[in-house]
Amino acid sequence: MEPIIKVEHLNKIFSSGTGEVVAADDISFSIDKGDIFGIIGLSGAGKSTLVRCLNLLERPTSGSIFIGKNNLLELSERELRMERRKIGMIFQHFNLLMQRNVLDNVCFPLEIAGMKKKEARERASKLLKTVGLKEKAKAYPAQLSGGQKQRVAIARVLAANPEILLCDEATSALDPQTTKSILSLLKDINEKYGITIVVITHEMSVVREICSHVAVLEEGKLVESGTVDEVFDSPKTEAARKLILNAGIQNK
Ligand code: ADP
Repeated sequence: MEPIIKVEHLNKIFSSGTGEVVAADDISFSIDKGDIFGIIGLSGAGKSTLVRCLNLLERPTSGSIFIGKNNLLELSERELRMERRKIGMIFQHFNLLMQRNVLDNVCFPLEIAGMKKKEARERASKLLKTVGLKEKAKAYPAQLSGGQKQRVAIARVLAANPEILLCDEATSALDPQTTKSILSLLKDINEKYGITIVVITHEMSVVREICSHVAVLEEGKLVESGTVDEVFDSPKTEAARKLILNAGIQNK
């Protein structure tokens, strides 16, 4: 089976007045369709940069990023826009539109895509049901808990029918119990819709809970990757050992 995401020799160098930072250093890996793939590492290891490169929010300095057969770096603007529709993203701080109620937040991408208002509302209502927030359709983001806000963000991202969902520290602002409920929702979505999920996190418990595979980043390099069981049960590198042992959760 061809991987849904294939990264080859990815480099990202940030230049500033004070010098250069190599945030991604010759990174290569691939993700199969339907996987839940975790990317872990200490703060500053390059996790955010890597995940932002996967949809070209950040443009790599060099390398290739294949989504299916298409190398994103070789597409025209128009082709890239089409390809990006396959990739949704959720964030630590939810990024909801504060002036719009919950239903209208979920309708937003559908309206942008040109769907008729009535149809968009029907679809958004269904998605709110999927994420367990039907009764909050008329509420505004400020009236919701963190977990509820992330559910709205998930419904909104699902509205565009993505094949891939990127999660950048999506549970890092949530308490442990809410984190569990959001992870369980992500797992349901993965199973129900076959959406491939990429999870960036500094929380090892998140990886243990939902990921099938994991990659370890250290100073911009991918130092280890494999199934979660392989990496957590017998980490090969010092970087992986430290992350896993410090979290104290190597055994399920
Ligand atoms: P992580 O998500 O693992 O915390 P990041 O990808 O945010 O790591 O950062 C990796 C490195 O790249 C860090 O040294 C960070 O300071 C640097 N970096 C990230 N974004 C920028 C930027 N826009 N300009 C300059 N340096 C950056």
